[in-house]
Amino acid sequence: MIQASAGSELARDSSRARIYNFSAGPAVLPVPVMRQAQEELLDYDGSGLSILETVHRGKTFADIVARTEARLRELLAVPESHAILFLQGGASLQFAMLTLNLSRPGEPLAYADTGHWSARAIAAARELRSVNVAASARENGYTEAPAQEAWQPFADAAYVHITPNETIDGLEFDYLPETAGRPLVADLSSTILSRPLDVSRYGVLYAGAQKNLGPTGLTLVIIRRELAASAGVEVPAILRYRTHIEAGSLYNTPPTFNWYLIGLYLDWVADEGGLEEMARRAEARSTIVYDAIDRSEGFYVNPVAPGSRSRTNIPFGIEDGELEKRFLKEADGAGLKQLEGHRSKGGMRASLYNAMPLAGAETLADFMHDFALRHG
Ligand SMILES: *Cc1c(COP(=O)(O)O)cnc(C)c1O
Repeated sequence: MIQASAGSELARDSSRARIYNFSAGPAVLPVPVMRQAQEELLDYDGSGLSILETVHRGKTFADIVARTEARLRELLAVPESHAILFLQGGASLQFAMLTLNLSRPGEPLAYADTGHWSARAIAAARELRSVNVAASARENGYTEAPAQEAWQPFADAAYVHITPNETIDGLEFDYLPETAGRPLVADLSSTILSRPLDVSRYGVLYAGAQKNLGPTGLTLVIIRRELAASAGVEVPAILRYRTHIEAGSLYNTPPTFNWYLIGLYLDWVADEGGLEEMARRAEARSTIVYDAIDRSEGFYVNPVAPGSRSRTNIPFGIEDGELEKRFLKEADGAGLKQLEGHRSKGGMRASLYNAMPLAGAETLADFMHDFALRHG
């Protein structure tokens, strides 16, 4: 009996070591985080209860909430001027919620249109307000980020919204536009915690957790407190940032287990060396995969201009669609999992989040090289 269970333990370990998960989200999680959750699942901290069964109003959960916030404040150096919220409804709910909270009916908004997710954010905002597209990559097919000088003036906008990393298009820009005193709002769903940020420069930043922060189910919102004060009475209480700041994100029952996992994830990031180290790894991983594309002499194609390439999400294709199918099948068999491109684009996409080991990028690059030799 003992031998059998030791054997299956080993099998689990090695099977984990042999696969790499390139999913765009829900995405790869650090193995130590999942191990700890597994160990604590039946009995959290000697309480005799699982976190899954623990009331969100009690001391046990309050400690998790406090520790998670403190850890995040430290990692991202979040100033006291900004509140940290964990909300439900995904980044997609934020598309509407931020519009309702940060602008009044009739006020125009300014957005950068740099890919699939900014287009979704714009469409959601347009249901409520008029949107000026102040910078756009639509004309170039979302292959090159607009230059900072290319932004149109937007002096009357209630806020300025950017999507610095387009998870589907693989397009990224690193500058923050000059907003002439208007609050800057950023969707950082796929790059939060992948590098240090100057939080004080943002009015609101938000990120669905399922890419670089933990499992799906919660959305991180960091908001300059004074911006939360202005929501009008027409905004329902549950959609007001103010409500959630006053309730400490416990206005209604949150997905408690996900919150706990985010706490473990943040501890893991800190243990691994923090955001400078995460940035170094993101650079190293993405360089390996882009090199594999660029050295393939046109066998693999990534359409994004070199200066606008994402360090996190790398879409690529092969001219011959049949070969793409074969690539995905063989890659899966080789333990390189979930490399399918977004359903709107086809092809392949390698998402390289914090929890992707460097060896994952190396193994993918080796596979790509080998596949091109066999089929090129
Ligand atoms: C995944 C993603 C979203 C959508 O997130 P949901 O949690 O599914 O609403 C929005 N923006 C970006 C940049 C994303 O990567």
